[in-house]
Order: sequence, then structure tokens, then C-alpha cells
Amino acid sequence: MSKIIIAIDGFSSTGKSTVAKQLAKKLNYIYVDTGAMYRAVAYFALENEYIGEGFFKEEALIGSLEQINITFKFNETLGFAEVYLNGKNIESDIRTLKVSKYVSPVATLSEVRSKLVEQQQIMGKDKGIVMDGRDIGTVVFPEAELKIFMTASAETRATRRYKELLERGHDLSYEDVLENVTTRDHIDSTREDSPLVKAEDAIEIDNSYLTIEEQLASISEMANQLILK
Ligand code: C5P
Repeated sequence: MSKIIIAIDGFSSTGKSTVAKQLAKKLNYIYVDTGAMYRAVAYFALENEYIGEGFFKEEALIGSLEQINITFKFNETLGFAEVYLNGKNIESDIRTLKVSKYVSPVATLSEVRSKLVEQQQIMGKDKGIVMDGRDIGTVVFPEAELKIFMTASAETRATRRYKELLERGHDLSYEDVLENVTTRDHIDSTREDSPLVKAEDAIEIDNSYLTIEEQLASISEMANQLILK
């Protein structure tokens, strides 16, 4: 059986990571959430006051990139890998609306992108990996055997994300979440370096009306056909 690379890209809150995580488990593949890596850099920038309300000290952040070490460690209890910044578990710190607000401007910087892309390419060098993000099928692994591009209406995505954040105990409004989702999509799709676009050979899945089980079944089927080739 051959090992393949599965790239799952798409807009914010399309449920990419939920499906990617389960798919990796099913195939016994490694799962990498690249959004968590960009979030870790945004968290670092916020902590060091390189970014905040009305300011972004881009050069200072770029100059500090060497101090950033992002790693993943599998949590047996949770069943997925959590993200660490310089040895500190920041998995829940990066899921706040504040980090979501500043991550897309941080992700426009080419210096940030090239550092993370290099690390992502190393993680996938032996294949057997499911990676989700915005530029996996276009920039990180243009040669990936299976590329999925996930979409859903902005309202569907904001509703899902809103429920998820409420369940985690965050205090926010649906309008704030919708605004964040649409602003991020705009910045991610229009940035100069590695904008969010569907790779020509990616398969588009609009999951507005699909359950996770349905998505998982169809992507697993596609993956199995390629693995058994
Ligand atoms: O996937 P998630 O929503 O956690 O990603 C957070 C942000 O990180 C995205 O809105 C985008 O700005 C950035 N990102 C990126 N390239 C990736 C993954 C995420 O620019 N491969």
C-alpha cells in the first residue's frame, strides 16, 4: 500500500480540521493543523505587543521569528496533537476570538509563511499525512495526491463556529463571529503571498448540508482508491 499526501484547504470554519483529524485517524496518518501554526505566531505577536488595536510592528515580528519554535505533541486523552510554543501548551490560548482577529494580518507576511511552509514540508516528507490550511494544495504540497477544497456559506460557517465557541465558554455575539469569518476570508483570499484559492486539481466539497460522517465517507473513499492503486 502506498502512502499519500492529503491536502485539505478552504475558507474559515468550514470544518476542515474536524474532518481532517478523523480522516487521519481512520487511515493511521499524521494530522497537521497548519492554522494552529499561524495562530501560534499571532499569539506570540500579541504577547510581545507587536500587534494590537490599530498597530502592527511587522519588522519587529519578522526580526523575532527565530525565537519562535512551534511543535505538536499528541495528547492521548484528547486523541489529537496539541500545539506548543517554545515548550508551552497554547492549544486553548490560540482558539480565542482575539487570536482569530489578528491571525490573518500576521499570515500575510512572507517571512512568516516561508518559515512555516518549510516546517510543514519537512513534516510531510515521508507522506502518510493529512494537512489542512489555506495553501496546502497550492504551495506547501502542490504534488499532493489528493486535494480537497471545502466551502460552505458564511452564515453556516459562522453559526458552527459560534456554537463551538459558546460551548467552550467564550462570551461573544454571533455578529462578532460572522464579522471575523468574513474579514478573515477576505484577507486570506486577497493577500499577495499564497492567497487562498482552489488548486486547479482540487475537488470542491460544499458541506453546508453534509454531516461530518458523509464528508468523511466520501473523502475516505477517494483516499482509499489512491492508496490501493
Ligand atoms: O485554519 P484556521 O482558521 O485556524 O487558520 C487561521 C488563519 O491562519 C487563517 O485565517 C489564515 O489567515 C491563516 N492560515 C494561512 N495558511 C494556512 C493556514 C492558516 O494563512 N495554511
